[in-house]
Amino acid sequence: MAKVIDSKIPAGPVPEKWKEYKAHQRLVNPKNKLKLDVIVVGTGLAGASAAASLGEMGFNVINLCIQDSPRRAHSIAAQGGINAAKCYQNDGDSVYRLFYDTVKGGDYRAREANVYRLAEVSNNIIDQCVAQGVPFAREYGGMLANRSFGGAQVSRTFYAKGQTGQQLLLGAYSSLSCQVQAGKVKLYTRYEMEDVVIVDGRARGIIAKDLCTGKLVRFSANAVVIATGGYGNTYFLSTNAMGCNCTAAVQCYRKGAYFANPSYVQIHPTCIPVHGDKQSKLTLMSESLRNDGRIWVPKKIEDAKALQAGTKQGWEIPEEDRDYYLERRYPAFGNLVPRDVASRAAKERCDKGFGVNNTGLAVFLDFSESINRLGIDIIMQRYGNLFEMYEEITDVFPGDVANEINGVKYYKPMMIYPAIHYTMGGIWVDYELQTSIPGLFAIGECNFSDHGANRLGASALMQGLADGYFVLPYTIQNYLADQAVWPKVSTDLPEFAEAEKKVDAELDRLLNIKGKRSVDSIHKELGHIMWEYVGMGRTAEGLKEGLKKMHELEKEFDENLFVPGTKEGLNIELDKAIHLRDFFTMGQLVAFDALSRNESCGGHFREEYQTEEGEAKRDDENYFYVGCWEYKGKGNEPELIKEPLEYEAIKVQTRNYKN
Ligand SMILES: Cc1cc2nc3c(=O)[nH]c(=O)nc-3n(C[C@H](O)[C@H](O)[C@H](O)COP(=O)(O)OP(=O)(O)OC[C@H]3O[C@@H](n4cnc5c(N)ncnc54)[C@H](O)[C@@H]3O)c2cc1C
Repeated sequence: MAKVIDSKIPAGPVPEKWKEYKAHQRLVNPKNKLKLDVIVVGTGLAGASAAASLGEMGFNVINLCIQDSPRRAHSIAAQGGINAAKCYQNDGDSVYRLFYDTVKGGDYRAREANVYRLAEVSNNIIDQCVAQGVPFAREYGGMLANRSFGGAQVSRTFYAKGQTGQQLLLGAYSSLSCQVQAGKVKLYTRYEMEDVVIVDGRARGIIAKDLCTGKLVRFSANAVVIATGGYGNTYFLSTNAMGCNCTAAVQCYRKGAYFANPSYVQIHPTCIPVHGDKQSKLTLMSESLRNDGRIWVPKKIEDAKALQAGTKQGWEIPEEDRDYYLERRYPAFGNLVPRDVASRAAKERCDKGFGVNNTGLAVFLDFSESINRLGIDIIMQRYGNLFEMYEEITDVFPGDVANEINGVKYYKPMMIYPAIHYTMGGIWVDYELQTSIPGLFAIGECNFSDHGANRLGASALMQGLADGYFVLPYTIQNYLADQAVWPKVSTDLPEFAEAEKKVDAELDRLLNIKGKRSVDSIHKELGHIMWEYVGMGRTAEGLKEGLKKMHELEKEFDENLFVPGTKEGLNIELDKAIHLRDFFTMGQLVAFDALSRNESCGGHFREEYQTEEGEAKRDDENYFYVGCWEYKGKGNEPELIKEPLEYEAIKVQTRNYKN
């Protein structure tokens, strides 16, 4: 009999569920709270906000991160903004509309009740962050300013120039620091979780590696929360920070936590194109730029060929010869269609030969019209740091006038192309954000919960902070209410000793392969396989070929890897080898899931399943479920378990961004 998943969603209509949930919640007895310990792994926006909130509520929190400071978590990279349904623009926004846009943006593959809750708490996040002093952009009159992001026809994105993630993280970090000072949070920087320890079927602790000394350390607690980010770096080249990895999530998966919807990977349309084979990182140009930038390629193939050959420049092509293909195909949303739609449209143009750089894999993002309309000062106020970042990398300043045709000024356009950016899939969690292992919770990008098959721009920060500030602190108490009577387990238990021994043996194994290939050379090859066979356009045949190639490369990793140094002290190559071991497990999981889902939806595009116009073609009859995978050992196929989706408030239909 198929396994049944209890997602713990309360009964009743969607808007009432969260209220009802809170009303029926079992709260920890305040007298016992002081005895309860919670491990929070990660100090990104999700981890830092959760650790600070739990500390403030009186729990004893152990908080770990791999960087030297929580402020360096990947979340600081977030540029564009954070969504909330405040309706400050008086443009008809509402909690329901944010909920609806998010479910539609996710191509009707998200869990409806979770998304409603997310939309409902979105407004509290802005109030919380303003109270912390986050310097959101403001209008002249003092109101918080907003801009638009893809998949929405209202302006609901709050921002702090192009540094929203950094400013939000500074806010969360200040709350966290208060709790560190108060003695409620104990912070361990440069520590990496290597394994979760299960005692009597419950998560009771972790094994971590002190990255500076190489020593393995045991931590025990009443519950474990992982907030360790996404798995985008499986593809080697991505917009993610270099240190992003999926080791903690994959270890939880190996220990029995289900992994949900791994094939839902987001490819962001506006990244600086790949410019050589020595690159190890891609740079995002924020989606906010699509508020004022227009995306185009030439109408004439001879112009595209001249651009590719370098004999013509974009600013030499007059207005009438430009194809603003998003505005042409999707008149209602134009340049602000969701990311999956914009990425595929760019690929379609480039595949047809209209790419604008020497590789043919780029399109223009042009500010000429908006600079002519608003003036360079306003554009610089909005995107100054992004223009500067673009110039630093490409030596082209998008605010420079380059040409004048018939009295119209043309500015130097940016060149952009889709790249791996975000992972909607993640550790499966129920409505309470608890994984399939009791006592183990997952929040932020590392869980699968809210975005379905495609995340809308500015919704990751919203979800991470919703989880950390407003959802987990409530839901975890349902679990901890029972735990209050249990003493914290000792790290001397055999389960801890065994987990530590296994981690240690793995370190020895990797060091003793003593082959000839560096971690990066193998990781780069894995990235090529992922992009080629498990990337933007997938086919059953390609996915099978990709899986075969991944198995061969994993064998090469196991037999021919070279890791210099020892396990004592700092050894970055050893840490990267551990991450790569887990990227292999992850890459195969993405491919398995993609192969099993014989439909296209959101970021998962199977070329066999598309409409005549090249849009994703869903199969709701057979695939209207969350695909959860259970680990069955190295080299074995994981088992698929389905959580059926149930929609009460929203009618499931084909996405339409045309009218
Ligand atoms: C360039 C870029 C721009 C973006 N812009 C936006 C935007 O404008 N708006 C938006 O909503 N979203 C944006 N996103 C997405 C968003 O930034 C992320 O989804 C979000 O910040 C993830 O937060 P998190 O707390 O879940 O994880 P992270 O910020 O990735 O933090 C992970 C934490 O876990 C720790 N960690 C990881 N593994 C371990 C381990 N094994 N042991 C111990 N600690 C570990 C790390 O040290 C870190 O503290 C952007 C993403 C990128 C790449």
